[in-house]
Amino acid sequence: MSENGKRVAICPGSFDPITLGHLNIVRRSAQIFDEVVVCVMHNAMKASPMFTIDERVEMVRRAVARYPNVRVDTSDILLAEYARQFDCPVVVKGLRAASDFEYEFQMNLINKKINPELETMFLTASEKYTFLSSSVVREMAAYGADLTGLVPEELIPDIEEKARLWRKK
Ligand code: ADP
Repeated sequence: MSENGKRVAICPGSFDPITLGHLNIVRRSAQIFDEVVVCVMHNAMKASPMFTIDERVEMVRRAVARYPNVRVDTSDILLAEYARQFDCPVVVKGLRAASDFEYEFQMNLINKKINPELETMFLTASEKYTFLSSSVVREMAAYGADLTGLVPEELIPDIEEKARLWRKK
């Protein structure tokens, strides 16, 4: 619970780019929590992102604009450290498959070690998005495939344009 009594959920990710699978988790979190902070993480482990951090933040902002209790932030520190600014923070993550679970379970234990106040909640992915990841979108875009039904409609031109620039490289 934050100081003003609001329950805050943090939805972290690299969002390179945001997909309809991410958005589904954000929308459902916004129905459960008073406020949702979508945190675009720099993520040192993912070497060469398709979009810069500023581009990712801007795209997430456009995608969540319709949700009044969702805001966007960015962080280049560990999630467990970032969460310290909130009282009783809850991280919400989406689970697509057993493989997600193993990784997330491990991350959860590490986060708890760094910040014992931090709770993690898992929402199962919507059936129609279990196959969907940012890397699938990047790959489809690289081959010029139709991105309808994978990412928010309004972001398709930006992603297609970036893929065109990529192909020219
Ligand atoms: P990705 O795994 O697509 O590269 P991120 O690292 O940005 O994406 O993931 C952020 C969070 O969103 C993770 O908790 C991940 O499990 C979740 N997520 C990603 N894609 C989906 C999806 N299609 N359905 C539900 N949750 C998802």
